[in-house]
Amino acid sequence: MTTEQIKELKVEDIKAAAGERGCPMQQALYFVTEFLSGPMCGRCFPCAMGSYEARIRLQHLVDGKGSDADVAALRRIAEDMAEASFCKKGKDTAKFILDWMATDVFASHAAGTCPDMSCTGLIEYRIIPEACTSCGDCKDVCAYSAIHGEKRKPFRSGYHPFEIRQKKCTKCGECIKVCPTQAIIRTAAAAKTAVHV
Ligand code: SF4
Ligand code: SF4
Ligand code: SF4
Repeated sequence: MTTEQIKELKVEDIKAAAGERGCPMQQALYFVTEFLSGPMCGRCFPCAMGSYEARIRLQHLVDGKGSDADVAALRRIAEDMAEASFCKKGKDTAKFILDWMATDVFASHAAGTCPDMSCTGLIEYRIIPEACTSCGDCKDVCAYSAIHGEKRKPFRSGYHPFEIRQKKCTKCGECIKVCPTQAIIRTAAAAKTAVHV
């Protein structure tokens, strides 16, 4: 196998590994990040600079800090890469991005929604008070002390209800697994925190 074939194979490997990630935005970010650290040789400007900027813009969107400006920049970058990259690897990377841009998933992330509910910057975990029995299992399992509340004790009332402190929550998802009453839900984050241009 020639060196070029090995490099080509790596792009295919990256594509396959990216496909195992649920959210298309995360697939695109994974693909571009791995492309930059492996097959991208840096010999031509549209691919080299385009890939670097694409990774930054994709990260904004995955983190819930993206905007329409990021989506517009990604389209410009991918179109430039598709046209002017020297070799198939750069053109394939551009095609990978443009294929996903044909769906509305980039725009959804720019608007603050991850349709797969998997980008942690765009989701929150919340406790539904009406469904919570104050058993405390979620608080016991949370490694980040993000859940506050008091367990029920006999002959006492006036408990502090269980709630998740969003600033401390890492979105690890462990609490949702142990709740016996399905009182914890994963939901779209309340608001986006920043806009990049
Ligand atoms: S398009 Fe090909 S030659 Fe140009 S930087 Fe990318 S991998 Fe290298
Ligand atoms: S998602 Fe993880 S960090 Fe957040 S409250 Fe649940 S267990 Fe704690
Ligand atoms: S595990 Fe569920 S029921 Fe128990 S305190 Fe937490 S949210 Fe409430």
